[in-house]
Parts: sequence; C-alpha cells; structure tokens
Amino acid sequence: MPNPALLHHNETQFAKSIVALAPGMWTAVGYAASTQHMIEGAQSVTIIDTSESTSAAANVLAEFRKLTAKPVGRIIYTHSHRDHISGATVFCEGKDIPILASAGFDSDLVGQDDTRIAPNEALGRRTMAQFGIGLSPEERISLGCGPGDRPMQGMGAGHIPPNELVAADRDIDLDGVEARLIHVPGETADHMAVWLPGPKVLFPGDNWYHAFPNLYAIRGTPYRDFAAWADSLQVLADLDAEVLAPGHTQPVFGADKVREVLVTTREAILHVMRHTAEGMNAGLPMDDIVATLTLPNDLGDKPWLGEFYGKAAWSARAYASGTLGWYDGNPTHLGTLSSATRARHIADLAGGAEALVAQANATSDLQWRLELCDHLIALGHPAEPLKAATMIALAETEINATARNTYLWEAKRLGEGAAS
Ligand SMILES: [Zn+2]
Repeated sequence: MPNPALLHHNETQFAKSIVALAPGMWTAVGYAASTQHMIEGAQSVTIIDTSESTSAAANVLAEFRKLTAKPVGRIIYTHSHRDHISGATVFCEGKDIPILASAGFDSDLVGQDDTRIAPNEALGRRTMAQFGIGLSPEERISLGCGPGDRPMQGMGAGHIPPNELVAADRDIDLDGVEARLIHVPGETADHMAVWLPGPKVLFPGDNWYHAFPNLYAIRGTPYRDFAAWADSLQVLADLDAEVLAPGHTQPVFGADKVREVLVTTREAILHVMRHTAEGMNAGLPMDDIVATLTLPNDLGDKPWLGEFYGKAAWSARAYASGTLGWYDGNPTHLGTLSSATRARHIADLAGGAEALVAQANATSDLQWRLELCDHLIALGHPAEPLKAATMIALAETEINATARNTYLWEAKRLGEGAAS
C-alpha cells in the first residue's frame, strides 16, 4: 500500500481540470506534468507555458478552444525546463508569433550536447528513475509535481526557442490585458513570473507549487540558489496577489492564503539554510546535520510543504555542496577507500562476509540493510535481490514521489541485472 499522503496529493492536485482564475483566464491542471495557462485578450489569447509533449499540448488546446476561438497571439515561458517549453508548436498552429522568455533563458536540460564531456548518460538514467519511466500506473503514483498517468507521445518534440528575450522587468500589453514580467530566480536562474495587477493574478512558474520545493532534484542538477529562491518568494508575496496559478499543482485563491503559502515556503527554505549552515559552522558531520533536520511545527504542519517533490534532507546536502563544495571539513574525507576495500575491512571486523549476510537479513533498519547490501555487492556476494526487495519496501512508506519512483525503478533494474 503506497503512502496514503502521496495518494491523496495525487488525487487532489493532479485531477484533470480547467480552472477559472478570473474572468478571461484559466489554468489547465492534470493534462501534463506541468500546468498551462490561457489569458484572453481583445482579439487573441496569451499562453503561459506549453507542457512537455505535443500530445498533452493538443489536449489542452482542445479544452481551451471550448472557452474561446481567438487565436494564440503570444507565448510566455516562465523558465526553460522542458516540461514547460515542449508543446509550443501546437499552440502556435503554424504561425510565427512572439515567444517571450527571460534573457537568461538556459537550462540544464534544454540541449544535452554529446560532443562535450558531461555525465549525460547518468542524467538520462536518473531522470528515467526519478519520473518512473516504464513503471506501471499503480507503481508510479505521481511525479511529485504532476500526474504519473499522462500522454507521452511527442515528448519534447514541440519546442520552439524564444524569439523575444526579456532582459529587465517590464510592463507588457497582452492584447488589452495589462501585465508585468518579473525576473524571479529560484528553481532556475531564468525564472520569469507573470503578474496581472488588474485582477491580481500571479503566475510564479515553479517557484511555488503544492509540495516542498525541489531545492535539489535527484535526477541530478547544478546548485539551485537557495537564497535567491527565498528572496524571490518574498518579491512574489509582496505583490499581494489574490490568485496564484503555479507551474505545477492547483491554483491558490484568496490574498491571505496566497501570502501564507509563499511566505511559509520561503521560511522553509531559510530554515534548511540556517540549520545546515549552523551545523557546518559547528563542524558537524553531514550525516548528523541531515539526521537532525526537521521543519518546525508551524511549517511542518502545512500541507503544501509535504515532501511530495522536494525533500529537506536532500536540500541540506545540496546547500552544503552548493556553498562550500564536497569537502565537509573532516580531514578523514581527504583520503579514500574503495567500496571493496571498505567492505573487506567491515567483513573482517564482523567475522566474515557471512556475518554481514546474517545481519542484513536480521536487521529491521532498512537503511542499514541497504548499506550492508552495498558492502556485500562490493565483495561480490549476490545481495542484489535483497537490496531490490528492501528498496521496494522503502518505496511503500515513502511520501516523496521521486524517491518512490527511483526505488522502484532501480529495484527493477537490479532484478534485470541479476537475472541476465
Ligand atoms: Zn516544472
């Protein structure tokens, strides 16, 4: 039985719906990993973000067409992640229209260049694991940021590069609808929010969604600037929006609620930074900094800070490595033992590898069992089936969708490796 909170998050945040934000503006939720938004102008509509596939974009456009037949006059990308920029060809309908994005538009994922040295294969494999590509719908509850069950045809196929780059914050006329484009570095450095001061509707991109912020994505990502993200959440909160329509999950309504979700998410980021910096300053081991990190009660009880997508513990490690790099200040870690050498020493201490096998089978601490399995595998013992079974057990209690998907995906891969 999967974690009930993760099931509930999927049911409440990713059910397919076209949500009216204010007169003449709507958000499509649940049609793709991300959300898409439409703003109706005098003669045309504006589309904010375009989904990850041409098939999802076509489904959304068909729904939007039931609301208005006005052609798409322009597209705005909130940022460069592929799940927001890959359905543009569908919305353009063959026409050459303005596509606006931040002047810093650039992504860790827009174009992997195989001619340069880079861990692209690792990124590809880990991305498949994080999003549970190939898992059954029952196994893959959600992506954490979107529904697991969604159309996959035309994945990444409909991207059009932006043709109008926005260097500084500026006002813009969306065919009769007054808007402001605001640079808000956060999940990516190239984030650009769209603010409609008339109806007080705010599109923050992925700087907010109904889940703990993905300060570190386990697929692998360069450092996401925690301080910049926290600052941007304050900028967004200070707009006093009445409607918040995020790049993933359902919109939020009511000025007090919008302010609360933005400010508490900012506080959660600051808490991770403070806890980790204090631990580093005190010279604590990274494992202990992580093991003692919990959100204070007045943040931990907020449903939108549930760790469905990001995770505080991973964030602490990302903050440490993003600020001071891999070295944790303990000179022991200036040297290295190979995994096989370390495993041999531990087996010697335990009285042989068979003692490790017995302990791995006996312990109820699943994390310890995984670590013992790794030592055994390093020693050439066939502990793969036990490791796979342990990851499956962990997946069932896991609230984080990306962790659940990764445990299940890697368990399958381990099983296939052991069988061949
Ligand atoms: Zn996104």
